Amino acid sequence: MSNEKTYEMLWDCQYCGTKKLLGKTHRFCPNCGAAQDPKSRYYPSDEDKVAVEDHHFVGVDVTCSVCGTLNGADSKFCQNCGASLEEGVKAQTLAEQTRGLYESFESSGSRDVVKESFDAEMVRAGVKPKNAGAAASGLNMRVIAFVVVAIVLLGAAALFFLRTEERTVVVTGHGWEHTITVEEYVNFSESSWRDSRPSGYNVSMVPGTCVERQRGTRQVPDGQTCNVVRSDNGDGTFSEREVCHTNYRSEPVYDDWCQWSGERYTLDDTYTTSGLDLNTFWPQVSLNCANQQRIGCQREDRKSTYWITFKLDDGDQTYRCDFGINDWQAAEEGDRFTVQVRAMDESAADCGSLKPAS
Ligand SMILES: [Zn+2]
Ligand SMILES: [Zn+2]
Repeated sequence: MSNEKTYEMLWDCQYCGTKKLLGKTHRFCPNCGAAQDPKSRYYPSDEDKVAVEDHHFVGVDVTCSVCGTLNGADSKFCQNCGASLEEGVKAQTLAEQTRGLYESFESSGSRDVVKESFDAEMVRAGVKPKNAGAAASGLNMRVIAFVVVAIVLLGAAALFFLRTEERTVVVTGHGWEHTITVEEYVNFSESSWRDSRPSGYNVSMVPGTCVERQRGTRQVPDGQTCNVVRSDNGDGTFSEREVCHTNYRSEPVYDDWCQWSGERYTLDDTYTTSGLDLNTFWPQVSLNCANQQRIGCQREDRKSTYWITFKLDDGDQTYRCDFGINDWQAAEEGDRFTVQVRAMDESAADCGSLKPAS
């Protein structure tokens, strides 16, 4: 990133109390010689920050597990005692900080490493409650575990509830329904947006009826907000960069709201006949100038449903399945079929699986 600059983290010597030592330059306390403890690092205030020129980041520092000396990530062996750094402890990094462009950072404060490790030990021993973050992540794990268990249980339940088995059923009766829907061809007038013409015949926009109305909003760019973010590199330095994001504001979008006129069929009435036998008939309906596409004339649409009721051969449960008229007429009371029935409680049958019993 072109606007990124690198500065020294600060640390305070835990042994002699020297303050504001430099994270990258002072690997050892210049006063007493103690090795830097990366846990003691903190962000400086903007007044105290010291730039690092030509910084090359090689990785997070490692503390030797044998002698406690801080080493750069490019070392394989401790510069002090020569032990392998494979078992070394990687430096922890501080959380990112953000400030407004024209504000300045405060120091994140020197750290009491002894107190922090004591507190951590107390938490581990259960003497002190964990902080909110740790509690939340524990809760998250519990929620995830709960969801996984719930999904598995639901899957098992679905398998259990949806399992079917073949059963024999007996025809107990017939039923039918005939419906005639009558529509009339009429003039209509309707309002809608200019680009959404209503459906119908001979539909046209009524001249001079369009008015501008707000149809919605759109987001338009409206400047940008910039912040300065600093992040701990873990090698005794931190990087500062400017992060900008575009702001948006809502702007109304207008369109033409117009009136239309035209002709179309609209529902006039519905007539139904039904019965529980094989004697079907249609409602008596007379249409005005039937099937002519003129104002005031009517057309009809006929729909029929035929069903058969069944009873389990070895039980009381009943079912109803729709049939085509030929199979419906051919089936007689007492005829036997096989069908897939919900195994759990026999409460539903899969009509698609019906077959005459052999
Ligand atoms: Zn010191
Ligand atoms: Zn060492």
